[in-house]
Amino acid sequence: MSDDTHLTGSANAALTRRWQGAMMDNFGTPRLPLVKGQGVRVWDAEGREYLDFVGGIAVNALGHAHPAVVRAVAEQLSSLGHVSNLFIAEPTVRLAERLLQIAGREGRVYFSNSGAEANEAAFKMGRLTGRTHMVSATGGFHGRTMGALALTGQPGKQRPFLPLPGEVSHVPYGDAEALRAAVTPDTALLILEPVQGENGVVVPPPGYLRAARAITAATGTLLVLDEIQTGIGRTGHWFAAQAEGVEADVVTLAKGLGGGLPIGATLAFGRAAELLTPGAHGSTFSGNPVVCAGALAVLDTIERTGILDHVTRTGERLRDGLAHHPLVREVRGAGLLLGVVLERELAARVQRAAQDRGLLVNAVLPDVVRLAPPLIVSDREVDTFVAGFGAALSETLDEALTAA
Ligand code: PLP
Repeated sequence: MSDDTHLTGSANAALTRRWQGAMMDNFGTPRLPLVKGQGVRVWDAEGREYLDFVGGIAVNALGHAHPAVVRAVAEQLSSLGHVSNLFIAEPTVRLAERLLQIAGREGRVYFSNSGAEANEAAFKMGRLTGRTHMVSATGGFHGRTMGALALTGQPGKQRPFLPLPGEVSHVPYGDAEALRAAVTPDTALLILEPVQGENGVVVPPPGYLRAARAITAATGTLLVLDEIQTGIGRTGHWFAAQAEGVEADVVTLAKGLGGGLPIGATLAFGRAAELLTPGAHGSTFSGNPVVCAGALAVLDTIERTGILDHVTRTGERLRDGLAHHPLVREVRGAGLLLGVVLERELAARVQRAAQDRGLLVNAVLPDVVRLAPPLIVSDREVDTFVAGFGAALSETLDEALTAA
C-alpha cells in the first residue's frame, strides 16, 4: 500500500490507515502510531512527545533505546546472531546461569520467545509429571496459545477456542481455602500470578503464596509462579514472590527480561528441572544469542545501578501522588506495577484525557487504569506525570458530572 501521508495532512492518521489496510484486526486499531523513544519518552508520527507510563505493557524495564541494551545487542548481532539449538552460544548459557543466580537456587532454564510460550512449556512439564489435572485462578492471565489459554481464567478469551486442553480447574484468586479444596494428589500443577496484572493489578492477601506453596508441597503438585508481568524488578524485587520468601518449582518470565526484545524463560528447580528430556520440547529461536545478550544487559544494569531500591521508592512516590483524588478509590499494586481504581467506569476516558496531555496510560478495565512505566523513571518524571494525570482525572470527572 502506498504512503498517502501528503494526501491526508496527518501522519498519525495516514499510518493508522496503513495499519488498518495491512494488519489483521485481532488487536483492534491501536490508538496511536509511535515512531521514536528515548528513556521514558516516546514520540508519535507528528512529532508530539509523551511520557510513557505503559512501557510496552510492563516490558521496557530500562526505557527506550537504553545504551547498554543497544550496545549489547549490536555487538552480539555483529559477531554471532543465531545458531539454533543444534549449537551452543555462550550468551545463552550465561543468561541461564545469571537467572539461576538471581533466583538463588540450583535449577535449569528453558528459553522461548514470549510469555505464552514460557507458560506453554510449564504446561507441558505439568503433563510430563504423569498427572493431567491443573489449577489456576479466575481472572488470571497466562497467554493466548492453547495450553496457556486453558490456564488463563478469563472465559471470554477462551470461549471461541473451546475445547481447550484439559483438565484445568479455576478457583477464586486470593482464596487459600479454595486452593486447598481444588489441589489434590492428582493435580499436576498450580499456576498463579503473584499480582494479577491483566485483571486490573489485583494483589492477593498476605500469606496467599505461602499457603499455595504449602498446599502444593503436601500433594506433590508443581507450584508454577507466572512472574511474566511481575518479575525482573517490576515490583522492587527480582521476583515478586521473593517478598513473601516463596520458592516455586517453576517460575516463568518474559516482558521485562528482554529490554524490548522478545524472550520468554521457564525456570525450574528440583525434580521439575529434570522433566524436559531430549526431544520433549523446543523452538528454533530458543536462547537466541542476540536476545540473550540484550537480557544480560538488562539484568546487569538493574543490579549495577540499584534499580530495585529505586523501583520501591519511586513506586511509593507515584502511589502517594495519585491516592488523594475524588475520582480515585484506591491505588493498588506493588513497585511500579500500579492499578488506579476509579470510583466510576471512566478509565477509557481518563486514558484519552491523559493522552491529550502527553501521558500514555492503559485502561486495563472499565474502572482501572494500569501504570507500568520504565523502571528507570525519575522522581521528576513521576511528579510531571502526577500533575498531568491529576488534571486528566479532574477533567474527566467534571465532564461526567456535567453530562449527568
Ligand atoms: N502471563 C502474564 C502474567 C502476562 O501478563 C502475560 C501478558 O500480558 C502473559 C503471561 C503472556 O505473555 P505474552 O503476551 O508475551 O505471550
